[in-house]
Amino acid sequence: MYYNVNFFNQYNLFQNLGGWLESIASKVNGRNPKDIIEIINQKANIEWFLFRAYSGIYRLLSMEESARFCVQQFKMQKPSLSLNTERINFWSPVLVDMVIDFNPFLNSMRIMQDYFLKIIKKETSIFNVPRSFNAVMKNLNNYKFKEDIKREFNIYWKKSGSRIKQYRDLEQHYQGIIDHTFLQLNPEEKLVIYLPDNPQERSINKTSYYLKIDALSFFRKAYFDFNEFAVNIASIFGYKPKKLEQPFPIKYGEIIKGKERTILLTIEDPLKCTGIEIRQNKDGKIVTQFRDAVLLKVNRIANPEFLNIRKRVKNLEEIPSPVEIKIRGFKKTDNIEEYVLFRADGYCENCGKKSPHVDRNNKPYLELEYITPPHKGGLNSIYNIVALCQDCQLVLSLATNKEELRNKLKNHIKYVEEEIDKKTY
Ligand SMILES: [Zn+2]
Repeated sequence: MYYNVNFFNQYNLFQNLGGWLESIASKVNGRNPKDIIEIINQKANIEWFLFRAYSGIYRLLSMEESARFCVQQFKMQKPSLSLNTERINFWSPVLVDMVIDFNPFLNSMRIMQDYFLKIIKKETSIFNVPRSFNAVMKNLNNYKFKEDIKREFNIYWKKSGSRIKQYRDLEQHYQGIIDHTFLQLNPEEKLVIYLPDNPQERSINKTSYYLKIDALSFFRKAYFDFNEFAVNIASIFGYKPKKLEQPFPIKYGEIIKGKERTILLTIEDPLKCTGIEIRQNKDGKIVTQFRDAVLLKVNRIANPEFLNIRKRVKNLEEIPSPVEIKIRGFKKTDNIEEYVLFRADGYCENCGKKSPHVDRNNKPYLELEYITPPHKGGLNSIYNIVALCQDCQLVLSLATNKEELRNKLKNHIKYVEEEIDKKTY
């Protein structure tokens, strides 16, 4: 359904569900329609579970990114601070954005628990079980689950499940949590945000923070504990690990005869910008076609003149030299500049939009920008300079997740250049 498998595969999460889905797909063949509906229901359960799990990992990673950003902000101030201490109090607007995400993250965790319970019920055909994971844990022995399954429930609950439940009303403690946020200096510089020991306590004065439960460490542990639980359960059912495949929804919609039109476009790989187009032909027939936007562009731009300029600049790597004020403080090598504009072909290399403005020579106006800026060691190289529209340039310069955006851009350009390599030689 609607999740991005990249995080799951990259962090080795929920891989046995890949095997599970594969097994479901193989069961469909040759069954009668009634059975197929039952089988497909379980597939939908697993996919909805993964959607919830995706919103969990997405929030976790973005909170961790914010924490790193806070440390970075601290480091920039560090030279002027008097740090004769173990830790300092810390506050930043980024911190507030992160704390606001605590509750949605914990919600995702609880919904994941309940959804996975639904999957277990269906697989074991034991249906007299409450909907909520928490309710099941109150009387686990009342249900006819096998011992090894019960054991996994207990292990997970003890590790972090029960704490997730306790943090249900964490929102009322946001004030206290922000007051218990520090920048720890030793052994590593790290943002620590303590969660209350007794979150059920409604009075701020009675809430204690002695246990020093660091929110982000706990959240990560809780997420990975749940992954272990899900993987172990799947493995008890006999499902082997397998990389998850990117699913996409198929909604054909209406078929209008006498008209060729695109019905659905799904992007499979956002970096390579590959996807699948489902189209209806004039006679109403459905055609499925693989689409590769980068390849399409490379084929468009890779004429002999372009490849010639590229030959001259491909291996250039120069340290940018400071010059007198020339828009930005560093001079880019002319040929690289020319090449990058040629490569962009009038389209922003970040968002793909056609530049709405033209320059003095009536050519589409794009701004040249370093991916890694010179003061951070970025070189004059075709891999480090991009042509951007003014919107993207602004977004990039103001973004709080600058590193992430720059990394994406870097990988994208690298991929484009690799595709052009195939054209040159
Ligand atoms: Zn753009």
